[in-house]
Amino acid sequence: MRYAGKLYRPPSEADAYIVQATIGCSWNHCTYCDMYRQKEFRVRALDETLQDVEAARCAFGDDVQKVFVADGDALMLPTDDWLALLDACRRAFPNLRRVSCYAMARNVLAKSDAELRALCEAGLKVLYVGPESGDDVTLKRIAKGDDAAAHVEAARRAHAAGMELSVIMLLGIAMERSEEHAIATAELVTKMDPEYLAALTVTVVPGTPLATLRTRGRFAVPEVPGLLRELRTIVDRARPADALFRTNHASNYLPLGGRLPRDREHIVALVDRALAGEIELRPEWSRGL
Ligand code: SF4
Repeated sequence: MRYAGKLYRPPSEADAYIVQATIGCSWNHCTYCDMYRQKEFRVRALDETLQDVEAARCAFGDDVQKVFVADGDALMLPTDDWLALLDACRRAFPNLRRVSCYAMARNVLAKSDAELRALCEAGLKVLYVGPESGDDVTLKRIAKGDDAAAHVEAARRAHAAGMELSVIMLLGIAMERSEEHAIATAELVTKMDPEYLAALTVTVVPGTPLATLRTRGRFAVPEVPGLLRELRTIVDRARPADALFRTNHASNYLPLGGRLPRDREHIVALVDRALAGEIELRPEWSRGL
């Protein structure tokens, strides 16, 4: 297996074999993100990617149940390349249960319904999509590239193709629009209706446009109570049909888990207890990206 640069994958893909079919992120503008800032985006040559799958077959074969296709918006890979890759994965890993990748809304919207269906039928079952916010003003400020409506439409089309969605939202990104951000994010979650939902807390990474804004006094991460209030609003207002909810990412102060809406009241009560100082928060030194 050959990897270019640092690899990123969601926590729930910790047990997946990672194959890098694209290098970097084709968008690479989000103000808070430094994951692929130093990488010039390119689609990797298909035969190289397939050679890596073959190497993984020799090394891991029957042990591989999940494959995560990197990097940052790998769904943008041409559909023919995707189908060849998925076919190779099915042949290489007899116990393969699912393939997943990060996707931007625009990557979904760039594919036809037939393409999305073909990809799902070939094994691409889960898309990790990070709208971060449902507030269009915030989305524009953070240069997300897609607005809330695009995310809703992408979710509708991915679901219609049979895929599951893991939606990621970002606490603390909206400055004075904190409340609007939280309310609109809850609405977006309801409309996208993901099977998995995760909250991360914004971290200002040196070298990003967000870090420059902070230096100029134009961005600051809210104090912890403000972050918890955003989380509370989102959990309280979002109405997905049945989503596995997690805040176990290392960036968060309050690791929580449960199903929404089933556990909503319980989770809100925990956030309230944290706001009242009755639950110990993750110490600053142990938080991470
Ligand atoms: S789309 Fe994702 S990987 Fe690309 S710049 Fe934005 S946050 Fe980073």
